[in-house]
Amino acid sequence: MAARVFRSSLRWWGCRGAWLSRPAARCSHSGGEDRLETPSAKKLTDIGIRRIFSSEHDIFRESVRKFFQEEVIPYHAEWEKAGEVSRELWEKAGKQGLLGVNIAEHHGGVGGDLYSTAVTWEEQIYSNCSGPGFSLHSDIVMPYIVKYGSKEQIKRFIPQMTSGKCIGALAMTEPGAGSDVQGIRTNAKKDGSDWILNGSKVFITNGWLSDVVIVVAVTNREAHSPAHGISLFLVENGMKGFIKGQKLQKMGLKAQDTAELFFEDVRLPASALLGEENRGFYYLMQELPQERLVIADLAISASEFMFEETRNYVKERKAFGKTVAHMQAVQHKLAELKTHICVTRAFVDSCLQLHEKKRLDSATASMAKYWATELQNRVAYDCVQLHGGWGYMWEYPIAKAYVDARAQPIYGGTNEIMKELIARDIFRDK
Ligand SMILES: Cc1cc2nc3c(=O)[nH]c(=O)nc-3n(C[C@H](O)[C@H](O)[C@H](O)COP(=O)(O)OP(=O)(O)OC[C@H]3O[C@@H](n4cnc5c(N)ncnc54)[C@H](O)[C@@H]3O)c2cc1C
Repeated sequence: MAARVFRSSLRWWGCRGAWLSRPAARCSHSGGEDRLETPSAKKLTDIGIRRIFSSEHDIFRESVRKFFQEEVIPYHAEWEKAGEVSRELWEKAGKQGLLGVNIAEHHGGVGGDLYSTAVTWEEQIYSNCSGPGFSLHSDIVMPYIVKYGSKEQIKRFIPQMTSGKCIGALAMTEPGAGSDVQGIRTNAKKDGSDWILNGSKVFITNGWLSDVVIVVAVTNREAHSPAHGISLFLVENGMKGFIKGQKLQKMGLKAQDTAELFFEDVRLPASALLGEENRGFYYLMQELPQERLVIADLAISASEFMFEETRNYVKERKAFGKTVAHMQAVQHKLAELKTHICVTRAFVDSCLQLHEKKRLDSATASMAKYWATELQNRVAYDCVQLHGGWGYMWEYPIAKAYVDARAQPIYGGTNEIMKELIARDIFRDK
């Protein structure tokens, strides 16, 4: 794991004078056969398990867990009412080294590996706080800028995004086009060396707080297929004609801002084009497997969280003179859930390993996203059921986890589209 992540964890622990006494902080071997896998761990959310991680990742995980416990959980209910998290939180996360973790240091990122950034999104889900749109910012938006941006664009945005001072969003979906990206109508027309952008986007995560938005727009209507006439633009908050609409009222993900965005004759300089003209669709296809992997890992981590919440609940709750955990039907249900979760965890960890080696293909990422998000919703349903009426009450974490789960099979490409991609690969002549 890159030194910078390690240093930032140590800084965190160091300022509390605790890290030197922790055995993990002195040990830096990489993941080995002696690490327990999830099925044998005491808790599915334990620190120090899974062979894909090392003891350095464990130290980092402890610091991230502490960050969510201290800086996010106490304020989340307030942010749920506001429909957004505070800007201050983003800057705190930046100071703590939790943004742009998997972005190279020479580009202005933290310089950690994929597993380190996975630790940040897993810990967020273990905290049951879906408000901060960190993973979209760090692991979906920032990679586009680093991979396809000019030196000037990287220099302008990446260090600011790593510090949490500049919040990123990605705007593909429109009121009339979601699954069918090639059906978008937002367009940019050349005017001298500038571009004039018109159109609107909907359901944009981090949209309300965004400082920079990657906007997908049609730039060549005459292209032989729509896919060859799409480009990406970096649109900045404050540009004339860039209007943020209302924060949308959602079923779940209450503290996550999801907004409509409008572009009315927004004049963009040539330097706002991200990558090459008319190559936007190709860039999207390149980056979507990572987005789907993030969603898959979030889904299985959420399932692990819900399982542990429910295990605790049934051990406490009494009915018919004994705890609910004594009922065989309850025990068998938890046995089923644990088996499904652990099997899926093994697959998602193997996808993380493949992706770390740049070998995760689109169909495999789609399988992970489809499978893990369907499981997450089944686990959510069963875990609410095992909580009885209390599971339906907002004060119980399982209620929040249940509504948050519902968006997962929808965004990042619906699960029906995932099946399309998997099927296409099955019938592709190899
Ligand atoms: C909370 C939330 C956050 C989001 N964040 C973002 C974001 O940050 N940026 C962004 O660009 N978008 C975002 N989205 C949008 C999301 O990606 C889209 O909602 C999704 O891609 C589906 O598009 P749609 O809503 O237009 O549904 P539609 O495309 O209209 O689909 C409707 C139904 O038809 C099915 N369907 C469509 N085509 C096919 C097909 N070929 N075969 C089989 N079934 C099909 C779909 O699976 C679905 O069940 C977000 C959505 C939500 C809910």
